[in-house]
Amino acid sequence: MPESFDLVVVGGGVIGCATMRACLLERPGLTACLVEREPELALHQSGRNSGVVHAGYNQKPGTIKARFVVEGSRRVREFCRTNNVPVVEDGILVVARDESEIATLKELLARGQANGACVELIDRQRLGELEPHASGIAALLAAEGASFDARGYTLALAGQARGLGAEFFLGESVEDIHEKGDRVEVRTTKRTVEAKTLVCAAGLYADRLARKVGLSKKYRMVPFRGEYRELVPSRRQLVRSHIYPAPNLKFPFLGVHLSRTFDGRVLVGPGAVLALGRDSYGRFDVNLKDFAEMAGEKGFWKLFLSSDFRAVARQEWRKSLFPRAVAAEARGLVPELKDEDLVESRAGIRAQLVSTDGELVDDLVIEESARTIHVLNAVSPALTCSLPFADHITLLVAKRLWQPVP
Ligand SMILES: Cc1cc2nc3c(=O)[nH]c(=O)nc-3n(C[C@H](O)[C@H](O)[C@H](O)COP(=O)(O)OP(=O)(O)OC[C@H]3O[C@@H](n4cnc5c(N)ncnc54)[C@H](O)[C@@H]3O)c2cc1C
Repeated sequence: MPESFDLVVVGGGVIGCATMRACLLERPGLTACLVEREPELALHQSGRNSGVVHAGYNQKPGTIKARFVVEGSRRVREFCRTNNVPVVEDGILVVARDESEIATLKELLARGQANGACVELIDRQRLGELEPHASGIAALLAAEGASFDARGYTLALAGQARGLGAEFFLGESVEDIHEKGDRVEVRTTKRTVEAKTLVCAAGLYADRLARKVGLSKKYRMVPFRGEYRELVPSRRQLVRSHIYPAPNLKFPFLGVHLSRTFDGRVLVGPGAVLALGRDSYGRFDVNLKDFAEMAGEKGFWKLFLSSDFRAVARQEWRKSLFPRAVAAEARGLVPELKDEDLVESRAGIRAQLVSTDGELVDDLVIEESARTIHVLNAVSPALTCSLPFADHITLLVAKRLWQPVP
């Protein structure tokens, strides 16, 4: 007989763990388990990111991300302060290097204000006071930006969920999902469990699990590797907090930036290189199954053949192959940087949905079937949005499990 629960969550990243905790806080006594294919939690996006609590100026008003980011930022910082998760609340600067970038700062200011973020434009002199080694003619200051221990935060959420009664099954992968009447059956590599409701927050594999129940028809996952370099210890004093360039608003990537982490390192990056596999963390790692699946998609080719995307892809591959190109880009923000100040650091892979029309989907996406809820595009800054986003998913679970729909 399969083990039976009210709720099964798939994916032990920040979204799965935050959702599990939120459901149990809302409904003590719920029987629930979380299935994670890795032997530990948060080994993918939630443990391999910039560790920035974003401040709410990038997200287009009206999107789901915009709705959650400012509240999320305040709640994540509060959670870290009260649960001994390292957090450094030092603000973010987005720098305009010439007149043409001032228009972008104004757009970000307008977005931030519409989203309720604490943002202001500052002049060259104030920029110099805040970041003496940065170069720019003006900047957007987002005082609520912060650095935090993103993996520690995810583990703390999981710890609370465990304390509230959740079971965690680590090191087992979900292979199949079947909806059967008023239950859903989930087959993992080690057991079969059944539940009244399933929440899938499987990051890079979200679309594959959604297809098991006939969802994600319009979307496919395309992995983008974010490669970081970092400053050698003797040059870390060049950056006090976070220095971002004015972004290219056509793409959901933020450009090479310099970010002081909660433990005092300074990350430079990430790039955004098309990865040839969903777990291809190494520069030359290829997964033939993933690659063939991606190459068989019309949407992927529409994206790949668009001239804007190809120009960005070329730049990103150049930066990946020639570290000097990253140093050159970073020098646009901090001119004193030398090529030898940067060394190779970690990489993370972004789970980016692409629609069948070839668009990079730039918002959180949820699709539902009778017994399942699938988080399909938890892109940046989903870490920052995690607490209100988990409350939102909990409402969807509540409608199914404990609040009868009238
Ligand atoms: C390079 C990079 C930098 C980023 N920087 C920031 C930042 O500074 N601030 C911010 O707010 N956001 C940032 N983000 C975004 C943020 O990290 C993600 O939005 C967030 O971590 C997504 O969490 P998740 O739980 O959806 O996915 P994940 O953390 O990827 O978790 C999904 C989990 O599902 C598991 N899984 C997959 N398939 C199965 C299966 N079949 N069975 C069981 N388990 C399965 C995986 O092993 C994984 O642990 C960044 C992302 C990247 C890639």
